[in-house]
Amino acid sequence: MRRPALVLVSSLCGVALAAAVLAAPADARPGPRPHFTPGAAGIGDPYFPTDGNGGYDARHYALDVRYDPATDRLTGTARIRATATQNLSRFNLDLDGLTVRSVRVDGRRASWRHRDGELTVIPARGLRKRTSFTTEVTYGGVPQTLEDGSGFIHTDDGALVVGQPHVADTWYPVNDHPSDKASYSFRVTVPKGLEAVANGVPRGHRTHKGWTTWAWEAREPMASYLTTATIGEFRLKDYRYDGIRMVEAIDPKLYVPVQPHTGDRYAISQATGDAASYKRLSRTIDVPAGGGELGFWVDRATESDWDFLFVEARTPGQDDWTTLPDLGGATSTSTGDSCPYWLGLHPFLRHYQSVDAEGACTPTGTSGTWNAATGSSDGYEQWRVDLGAWADGPVEVAITYASDDLVQARGVFVDDVTTPTGAGSTSFEDDGDTLDGWAVTGAPAGSAPNPNDWIAGTPDDGPATLGEKAEAAFTKHPQILDFLQASFGDYPFSASGGLVDAFAGLGFALENQTRPIYAQEWFGGSDETAEGVIVHELAHQWYGDSLAMERWSDIWLNEGFASYAEWLWWEDKGVATAQEIFDSTYGSHPADDPFWDVVIGDPGPENLFAGPVYDRGAMTLHQLRLAVGDDDFFAILRGWAARYEGRNVTTPQFIAYAERVSGQQLDALFDTWLFTAERPVVPGALARRAPAADLPPLVGARGQRPSHG
Ligand SMILES: [Zn+2]
Repeated sequence: MRRPALVLVSSLCGVALAAAVLAAPADARPGPRPHFTPGAAGIGDPYFPTDGNGGYDARHYALDVRYDPATDRLTGTARIRATATQNLSRFNLDLDGLTVRSVRVDGRRASWRHRDGELTVIPARGLRKRTSFTTEVTYGGVPQTLEDGSGFIHTDDGALVVGQPHVADTWYPVNDHPSDKASYSFRVTVPKGLEAVANGVPRGHRTHKGWTTWAWEAREPMASYLTTATIGEFRLKDYRYDGIRMVEAIDPKLYVPVQPHTGDRYAISQATGDAASYKRLSRTIDVPAGGGELGFWVDRATESDWDFLFVEARTPGQDDWTTLPDLGGATSTSTGDSCPYWLGLHPFLRHYQSVDAEGACTPTGTSGTWNAATGSSDGYEQWRVDLGAWADGPVEVAITYASDDLVQARGVFVDDVTTPTGAGSTSFEDDGDTLDGWAVTGAPAGSAPNPNDWIAGTPDDGPATLGEKAEAAFTKHPQILDFLQASFGDYPFSASGGLVDAFAGLGFALENQTRPIYAQEWFGGSDETAEGVIVHELAHQWYGDSLAMERWSDIWLNEGFASYAEWLWWEDKGVATAQEIFDSTYGSHPADDPFWDVVIGDPGPENLFAGPVYDRGAMTLHQLRLAVGDDDFFAILRGWAARYEGRNVTTPQFIAYAERVSGQQLDALFDTWLFTAERPVVPGALARRAPAADLPPLVGARGQRPSHG
């Protein structure tokens, strides 16, 4: 979730008129008349100056919204109970877009202004410090998805509501900053037949005149970005484990296997878990003198911007390899995010991609250009590539699926191939010559051999569906909760679970309180990838959710801890020790690697979710563990979670707490690891050790990889 730094807009410029009205607040009580002043339009976070607001403390949100997927419109009422922290003449809520219909404060009609994401509420009379007041906002409109694709996402059957650091103010008026946590109750009304899944414990659903209202209660205080009201068709599994109400939601569409375009069979790329792959379905084709096209139908799901489908071509026996654009526009020349990283995995790709002095990739290589498709086609699409350059001669072509070595989608299904002469046209049916001259030629020299490769078969031969894989991963919830409770202390909430919507390309998971939301892509790869991300998001329930950042600059308190929970998990499973993961992470980033330039204790808004916040954050905790020993280290983790349960925390508080528990002076350690933009010196042989060979997949493992929350 990358998001550019926000430009501070003076949001109160339009309220001069209101100020005049407010100069003399009506207050009939005896005693000295208090002086009422406006609450600030921002809560004071230097990273996002207009986020949140001053002058009050929100205690409870009662959201009652209706959403119609047919029109994308959301209408509703937000009832917000808050306590004034100053004598308030007016105060702000954050609301980005949408139209406000009315505002009442303690039942009285209030004046209001709404511009630049700030809803300024001017109550009929001043609000005295320390008194509780309730604001009721009636509003509606089409919630706008954020520029980075997160936030309130309109899906084919509803809405997927997930984002960080911004999302809440796109669908309800809110004091939108994690330092003002509140409890929530949700009533979400949707067309009958759809589910609405929010945070906390389900409180039933009722259908009336074709609309179903779903009620959810989140008693424990929650940061606003962790709220969701995700709408669509879901298979709900609702059970109790260890006193925790578990709700797991998986979109039924994720269980539907891809069918052949025609007939019973098709070519299946398969997925290779987390192993890199370079899979070619190859054939030599004769091109008539007048030219011709290769055509085929494809249903593709590759990890967006990291894994690709493309058509390679060369003159037989020559090294003039290139890739061919789809005439229908499915391909582009974008090199995505895997270049230059994957040139190390697949040196052959240097035929099509190259790296300039600044480390940027260009879609031109030693012999050809880069034309490829990534992400999901959302059903079958027809590809046509022009073979005219080989007119009156043979051309060797390959339909190629290539991946990097972390996270894969379910892969590619190809059917109904056509060639200019008809030789090699096939729909892969079981007619005695299934492949009709096409051959599975394996990865090119320099790539590791493919663990599996193209096959021709029926849907039964294909990979398990994402729904089946997500469901299998969710069966590990009890085991993972057991492990995390043993490590960090009692689970801090009354509910847990997870949600997966059929929405390709989301690309991240987020620790929504009690109900983490996972991009479907997390379940296309290995069981270990799915397991690791669940450990990460559930660990956030302690670190990030129950203990929420006071300021976004403390993001390492979330991501470092959740990442280290993964290390502890793999250590417990005997896959790799935390020390081995530390050594590998440290060893894989030489001293001049920009990895070390990010000051993770204050990374800046543009680096909130940069890889070092995760990996160096976990490394910081590992160094703390080495310094204080296991007994004190785990006492620190558990005590930190218990002492600050449900509250906001800062890095200085954590350092002070670790020093108190351990009796050690730890400033130097934290200065080195959190606040120094260089590679810390690690004594002994650690630094020289080569990266371990078989490390588990780690959520934050790859630099700027934007695939986590
Ligand atoms: Zn995270």
